[in-house]
Amino acid sequence: MKVSVVKETAPGERRVALVPEAVVKLRTAGLEVLVESGAGDGAWFTDDSYAEAGASVVSRSDALAGDVVLMVGRPDAATVAALRSGQVLIGLLSPLTEPDLTRSLADAGVTAISMDMIPRTLPRAQPMDALSSQANIAGYKAALIAATEFGRFFPLLITAAGTARPAKVLVLGVGVAGLQAIGTARRLGALVSAYDVRPETRTEAESVGATFIELTSVGPAGGEGGYARALTDDERLAQQQELTAHIARHDVVITTAQVPGRRPPLLVTDDALKAMAAGSVIVDMGASALGGNVVGSVPGQTIVTEHGITIIGASALPSSMPAAASAMYSRNVSALLLYLTKDGELALDPDDELQAGVVVTSDGGIVHPSLRESPPAGQPTLAQPDEGPVSE
Ligand code: NAD
Repeated sequence: MKVSVVKETAPGERRVALVPEAVVKLRTAGLEVLVESGAGDGAWFTDDSYAEAGASVVSRSDALAGDVVLMVGRPDAATVAALRSGQVLIGLLSPLTEPDLTRSLADAGVTAISMDMIPRTLPRAQPMDALSSQANIAGYKAALIAATEFGRFFPLLITAAGTARPAKVLVLGVGVAGLQAIGTARRLGALVSAYDVRPETRTEAESVGATFIELTSVGPAGGEGGYARALTDDERLAQQQELTAHIARHDVVITTAQVPGRRPPLLVTDDALKAMAAGSVIVDMGASALGGNVVGSVPGQTIVTEHGITIIGASALPSSMPAAASAMYSRNVSALLLYLTKDGELALDPDDELQAGVVVTSDGGIVHPSLRESPPAGQPTLAQPDEGPVSE
């Protein structure tokens, strides 16, 4: 079976799906590995290093002809057009928010396997959990970016020239990224507070050194699979209002809140921005074209408000640490690939819970239970969440 790695096409994407170390592992398992020339350049993995590990370095069209094509992110239209029926594509395909791509992969007869659909609570899926590996990197980098942008110190410093008080950092959303942001800000010496709608995050936040903030106006909001549920409009307003007073007391806010398949919840409103002191810094990890956790944040841009608040729309953070992010993703994708392979060939089993979780399209249809098309008439569409869908 030929497993190929293609160069990512998304603007600014520097990660690569396999690093040379993983090539050796896949070859040992009897797989042939093809790598598009230049695929690892953005993460400093040379063609030579892939060749030394036993891969064949090939053109893009040869790589796209592999039996299994590995990517980090989503394929662009030209890549999808080059795929043929019966091929397998594995990547972070975001099928919950990319219905058109999912449909086109199904129409092309491609078996799409999405790394972001891995059932993360299954113990055997842990080594394949790319959402966690990439969120860890993003949380770490978000704290570093905040520290760099902040015009004061993070730690308490006592010097002959005076004493600097430690920065007060607030982390909103205590998932994988939030926990790493807390830990990193703490290691830099900041005083860190944290908040999340899932009550179980209190002990997790405290275990990495944060003081947990509890809101009286919003009850627990855990959803399915360990994720948060979307808040109702009333809850959202109450949360925003109560958070404003907490936000105002902090120098730095790092927001990481997400609800799968939906727009990121808005946590920092205009009122909250106005209540912050000039010189405060906000890193919005939820920044997206559809809006983020912070009003006015723009992905990939840094904005300074008229009140002197710096808002950093921190999208694509894992790609800003391409070597580490690629190495981790490579381990995740190799673990999944080897799990799906028997005697050097792909052996998909729809009855396996893990596989049923990740296989999105197969045999020309959309097969994932949470995406199945509503039947009859005309052009079928993906099932949409009932409130706040992101696919408008
Ligand atoms: P995520 O990226 O989906 O969301 C980040 C955080 O935002 C979550 O903690 C969520 O509760 C929070 N959030 C959502 N809406 C909010 C709001 N309105 N206000 C404040 N916070 C809000 O989360 P994630 O990092 O992908 O992790 C989600 C869950 O998956 C966690 O429970 C995590 O422990 C769990 N997980 C489990 C495993 C495992 O069992 N092995 C592995 C990875 C993650």
